[in-house]
Amino acid sequence: MNQKLALISEHASPLAVVGGVDAGGQNIAVAELAQHLAQLGYEIDLFTRWESTDLPQIVSWKTGIRVIHLPAGPIRSMPKEELLPHMAEFTENFLRFARQENQPYGLIHAHFFMSALVAAEAKKILNIPFVITFHALGKVRRLCQGDSDKFPVERFAIEERVIREADHLVALCPQDRDDLISLYDANPGKITVIPNGFNPNEFYAVGKALARTLLKLDPDAFTILQLGRIVPRKGIDTVVRAVSCLQKKYGTKVQLLVVGGESDLPDPSRTPEVGVLQELAVSEGIADRVVFVGRRDRNLLRYYYSAADVFVTTPWYEPFGITPLEAMACGTPVVGSRVGGIQYTIIDGQTGLLVPPRDPDILAEKLNLLIRFPRLSNSIRSRALRRVHHEFTWLNVAQKTARLYNSLGLPQPVQLGVGKSLPNTRSATFWSRSA
Ligand code: UDP
Repeated sequence: MNQKLALISEHASPLAVVGGVDAGGQNIAVAELAQHLAQLGYEIDLFTRWESTDLPQIVSWKTGIRVIHLPAGPIRSMPKEELLPHMAEFTENFLRFARQENQPYGLIHAHFFMSALVAAEAKKILNIPFVITFHALGKVRRLCQGDSDKFPVERFAIEERVIREADHLVALCPQDRDDLISLYDANPGKITVIPNGFNPNEFYAVGKALARTLLKLDPDAFTILQLGRIVPRKGIDTVVRAVSCLQKKYGTKVQLLVVGGESDLPDPSRTPEVGVLQELAVSEGIADRVVFVGRRDRNLLRYYYSAADVFVTTPWYEPFGITPLEAMACGTPVVGSRVGGIQYTIIDGQTGLLVPPRDPDILAEKLNLLIRFPRLSNSIRSRALRRVHHEFTWLNVAQKTARLYNSLGLPQPVQLGVGKSLPNTRSATFWSRSA
């Protein structure tokens, strides 16, 4: 069997700038998984939709990894909810590319349901086994978001089909596994839980005082950080209300930093939820306590995490949630919703605190505990640091994934030593748009 891997991630490119509405955890997950699998010696082609003619069709991205941009619909950025009609073209171009390369793949790992559809169609023709990581399930999203979920209803039937046809499913956490079984009747024997991870070279504590000085933040204020995509389902309104509650009920003034959005400066015209939250802060009388920072590059995030006394994330639901891992890796205690992957990465009372979603009063109560009892923060901090390094590094994740691939018949590569590299592959154009 060929040992080369095809990763498909139709909307979430590893090359995208992360933090906006449609670029977040999946982009990071696909990028990190690919890089760590390549370090283990796999040769990888990562297929994503061609969104900009500024990017070549084939990018030799990192050692052993090519990013292949497949034409599928207009060559511009589009909301992921509108991509399904273009998946037939994506599949056609994937098959054309695979044939042109003499069908070199031993396995396809599809990320998200539309990529899984491509993999299922490819399997019929090329007879390549495929694994799916959904990253989010349509039925869970519909249950939590109701009519604001704009994905076409065909999503559910597609998910049911690809779950039946896949050779294996990766669940990101036990909740994801349970949802696959209870909502989609997935075969439990075909599911392995492999979480997302964090990169220890990017996320480590830099010291609160230094971080606050560098970011020009108040050195003394108790500082709460919210960081991630700024969309309603992330429940950031709950955090704003909790800050207000802390002030009114407990007489405690804190500072809230909100990092994320489409642009480097907070801009409600580009990130409408920023406008909603700004108005909420005004109506709660705490506008002076909330700083909307804007999107930040990954090389700066450890300073934001390290500057905070606590990281808060209270989404309505969360397929996994990478940000709590990043916060824990920077030595910052996390308070998170008791949902999805967060209730897996946080052991309540030991490596963080869990709260019900959409409940600002309980969130304020827990924050007040951390403010009053710094020793609680300290014990959470050290336990969380130990656990994330033990369980959730991307290297760990890639090793588990490699074992899964191997159990499906993909030979394990001979591990490359540091400094050795896979041969670099070409970066030419392989077809014209009209091909
Ligand atoms: N992120 C970033 N810059 C920002 C905001 C967020 O790089 O300004 C990153 C964040 O560090 C994390 C990812 O976006 O790695 C969000 O992933 P998560 O799984 O927490 O949420 P998702 O985007 O999948 O809903």
